[in-house]
Amino acid sequence: MEAAVEHPISLAPTAVCQISRILTVLARVAGIVATNMLQTVPLGTKQLADYASIVGRDLIDEIHALAKPMEGRKVLHLSATAYGGGVAEILYTLLPLMRDVGLDAEWQVIYGQDEFFSATKQMHNSLQGAPDDLTPQQWTDWMHYNELNAKELSGGWDTCIVHDPQPAAIMNLVPQKASQWVWRCHIDLSTPNPDTIRQLLPHIADYPQSVFHMQQYVPVGMKGTVNIVPPAIDPLAPKNMAFSPDEATYICHQFGIDVERPLVCQVSRFDPWKDPLGVIDSFRLAREEVPGIQLALVGSMASDDPEGWEFFNATVEHAAGDPDIHILNNFNNVGAIEVNAFQSHSDVLIQKSTREGFGLTVSEAIWKSRPFIGGNVGGIPLQVEDGVSGYLVDSAETCAQRTVEILRDPELGAKLGKAGKEHVRKHFLTPRLLRDWLKIMAEAPPTT
Ligand code: UDP
Repeated sequence: MEAAVEHPISLAPTAVCQISRILTVLARVAGIVATNMLQTVPLGTKQLADYASIVGRDLIDEIHALAKPMEGRKVLHLSATAYGGGVAEILYTLLPLMRDVGLDAEWQVIYGQDEFFSATKQMHNSLQGAPDDLTPQQWTDWMHYNELNAKELSGGWDTCIVHDPQPAAIMNLVPQKASQWVWRCHIDLSTPNPDTIRQLLPHIADYPQSVFHMQQYVPVGMKGTVNIVPPAIDPLAPKNMAFSPDEATYICHQFGIDVERPLVCQVSRFDPWKDPLGVIDSFRLAREEVPGIQLALVGSMASDDPEGWEFFNATVEHAAGDPDIHILNNFNNVGAIEVNAFQSHSDVLIQKSTREGFGLTVSEAIWKSRPFIGGNVGGIPLQVEDGVSGYLVDSAETCAQRTVEILRDPELGAKLGKAGKEHVRKHFLTPRLLRDWLKIMAEAPPTT
């Protein structure tokens, strides 16, 4: 049987390190500018006024009122990657809006080599509950790159927002380089590996402000002000703009989807916590009841995720050449527009995660009024009311059963899809997130 992986890319694990280097080079070619070792990410422009018809005039006025006293404030966002995953997604849309309301906002990506990203990937997994802690050498590598980046970081920032654990140690190393420090955690810290959180805590506990998606993610021992703020999606980004059904169908057809047959789709990185293997199992079970359905697994590869290619290969292997399982990634030219097309065209959208900090793909799916099925974990239940705006599931079997219900009853799918959109409009669109950041910046006590 012929493999359904479009332009198959299968890599030995030894090639993984090369890939992260290639992605870094690609990011540079794409225009990311080197400033010493940290890289400044070039940003597009956005106007807050364009969102008024979507989120309402009151929120726009509130944002302008909050931003006015902060005009010209120098705000730095520090993160580990400008490509792949939710953090990059959020910053590409949030920063242009911060600039539009008068802040002097910038985004820099820290420098790291393979050993750093191996350590931070292990840290990410351990903090989400994996049994192994980092090795002593990995902790040393993590600290070494934090020291390098701290040294190179320029000073004079009014606010420095540090995203996730990768650069978390920087504040304690150079507190004088910013007047305010905020640690923004994007991952699920509800059941961390105890050794890992114990070793990380001294580096995050002293942040005067921290931001978590949910209260249950806040580790015991945070000393500053803790804010609970979930992230958001940009309704005007190419990924979420309204597409006509014909446009979405036309794009999916170009990627080998038979647009006359039903399509089930999961958009997410190739990561064990996203459970693409479970999605394949669930798809196979559903296909026993509804023959002829197809599955698309669409996943971008992040430059700070050396495990991604290994797991991509494992997913391809699990699909075993099934021609109705389409495995696509950004190396097959699947960018934002294509993700939008797949999300808009699919009959069922899945995010069958077993751990999920928030899951932007959930709001993205619901915003497109598609029927959604998600793992009952992390930030997913925040976005979906079970049985009202989608379904929450705990196993491949239940996922398959819900898939079959939706596919057999298109009216049910349409009803579920429509019900969630107002919830996303109210709670999970970028202007609300911008408002919350402005409030935090206005209230954060300066460190120095
Ligand atoms: N994404 C993408 N292309 C892909 C896979 C994912 O653009 O092939 C995007 C997805 O649309 C979402 C983000 O990457 O905006 C993933 O964010 P999420 O919070 O769902 O998960 P994370 O990767 O941060 O764990």
